[in-house]
Amino acid sequence: MADDKSILSKYFPEAAVESILFTLKDKNIILRISKARRTKLGDYRPALQGKPHRISLNHDLNRYEMLITFIHELAHLYAFEQFGRHHQPHGTAWKNLFGKLMLPFIESNLFPEDIRNELHEYLYKSKAANGSDLKLRRVLKAYNPLEDGSLIVENLPAYSHFRISDGRVFQKQEQRRKRFKCLCMNDKRYYLFSPLAVVEPIDGQDSNQSLYLTKKSLD
Ligand SMILES: [Zn+2]
Repeated sequence: MADDKSILSKYFPEAAVESILFTLKDKNIILRISKARRTKLGDYRPALQGKPHRISLNHDLNRYEMLITFIHELAHLYAFEQFGRHHQPHGTAWKNLFGKLMLPFIESNLFPEDIRNELHEYLYKSKAANGSDLKLRRVLKAYNPLEDGSLIVENLPAYSHFRISDGRVFQKQEQRRKRFKCLCMNDKRYYLFSPLAVVEPIDGQDSNQSLYLTKKSLD
């Protein structure tokens, strides 16, 4: 149980982990984090002949893409349950389900504002289902790590941990006007970081460490 959770925490926004875990158990889904595939971000295979549902997701998606792609595939599962093979894979019925399933995450404030706006546009305003997520893809891309794995503070998930060049470890906390308040795990003091400071994210790369740190800070 704790293990499943720490694995999910490596890939998904922390605030979504509990609900994803619930869904995986409730719907009896095998989730596989797969190697990167060029042609797709993830896929869904229906539960047939007594096998569980299967969802796979590319390992190199950023946390937000991971969540959105998971829900995209989950909407295929719901569509399959409701309509069997008799529906358009990315048609209106599927998209309505996608929109419904995304709503709690959009409302929970776990997405940065630009992603939330684009999601809203894509899910609830645009009619076309196929190809119209290009703008959303572009916004999501900005949250990918830089070439060497570093990220700017602004693009780190809320309450995640990062390391700076002198080795100190911080936890990103709330934004104060422009800058982010961050708790130094070494001396337990708060520091302000520019949103554009380049840092090394550590959650997700060392899951044990990030799990302990996250737990401690929530106590
Ligand atoms: Zn799809």
